Amino acid sequence: SLEQGPEGPETPIQVVLRVRPMSAAELRRGEQSALHCSGTRTLQVSPPGGGPDVAFRFGAVLDAARTQEDVFRACGVRRLGELALRGFSCTVFTFGQTGSGKTYTLTGPPPQGEGVSVPPNLAGIMQRTFAWLLDRVQHLGAPVTLRASYLEIYNEQVRDLLSVGSPRPLPVRWSKTRGFYVEQLRVVEFESLGALMELLQMGLSRRRSSAHTLNQASSRSHALLTLYISRQTSPLSPDPPAPQMPPGAPGEPPVGGKLCFVDLAGSEKVAATGSRGELMLEANSINRSLLALGHCISLLLDPQRKQSHIPFRDSKLTKLLADSLGGRGVTLMVACVSPSAQCLPETLSTLRYASRAQ
Ligand code: ADP
Ligand code: MG
Repeated sequence: SLEQGPEGPETPIQVVLRVRPMSAAELRRGEQSALHCSGTRTLQVSPPGGGPDVAFRFGAVLDAARTQEDVFRACGVRRLGELALRGFSCTVFTFGQTGSGKTYTLTGPPPQGEGVSVPPNLAGIMQRTFAWLLDRVQHLGAPVTLRASYLEIYNEQVRDLLSVGSPRPLPVRWSKTRGFYVEQLRVVEFESLGALMELLQMGLSRRRSSAHTLNQASSRSHALLTLYISRQTSPLSPDPPAPQMPPGAPGEPPVGGKLCFVDLAGSEKVAATGSRGELMLEANSINRSLLALGHCISLLLDPQRKQSHIPFRDSKLTKLLADSLGGRGVTLMVACVSPSAQCLPETLSTLRYASRAQ
């Protein structure tokens, strides 16, 4: 488990792999599993035509039997929350092909109707972190201001999922004190878990989706929910030291700790989805963001190139994740895969992408 991980943010990216159970449709089609978890950190891949297994190692490997609670614990998200309370920028993102369980891992299964909430045992990493954070803040005994924003990046355009009225594309800007930020993004202050859950529901129901040959309800947008945590007092403990928190200008979102949850668009290749025309454009800009993300991560991890320029400006996604990836932050990647042998080509590309990130 990553719970026992290092105290400070010296390991910038941690990678966890989650294998979802076979779906009813995969079972009906008689598909075989190509994946086998050995121990808690190794995944064995059996090529369908025979041949030797290929092994991949990650910070944790979570097999299909692991519950949502198991996943929350194994990911060590509470440690990220503690760091965010001390002023660090932390990000949890899910990566994988459409249908691999990214949204399920972050927010649970889709609600069974309008206004119906997810059963508590199926709640995802986000709801669990929200409950933990609100409880933690209540017991701190020091004033903490909590705010949230929720946006999606669709075709390299930023849309506010919490906007009043219909959303229009918002520009991403950069300033010396704030780094990259979205201009005119609605940032909502909240005090209760209920209020935060309502913001989540509002954003989820507004996320863009359109018919797709791989998954009817697939989402081709990247969705980012960010919690901004401002504390008025000295840090919880002197270790690690809290970074400087310059006060935001009036009317600006606060500068302080951040906890960002990113549900990335499907990582599958354009060819596999049968996308044409407008969908092709979408697939290209999705891949541009994901390629830019992979490129930035590989440069950040290369000890030889640590001081070199990291091209965060190459996509909206990398701009908005720049502070957790590069500055004073910690990033957790949850790579999601289907066990089915039919998905193996995409699964292997997810496994390679995830392996390169650690
Ligand atoms: P993605 O967001 O990667 O496209 P989803 O999270 O929508 O994938 O998952 C695809 C389908 O599989 C959904 O119906 C989801 O509820 C189901 N699913 C995913 N992961 C699990 C899991 N660990 N246990 C049970 N069902 C799952
Ligand atoms: Mg999804």
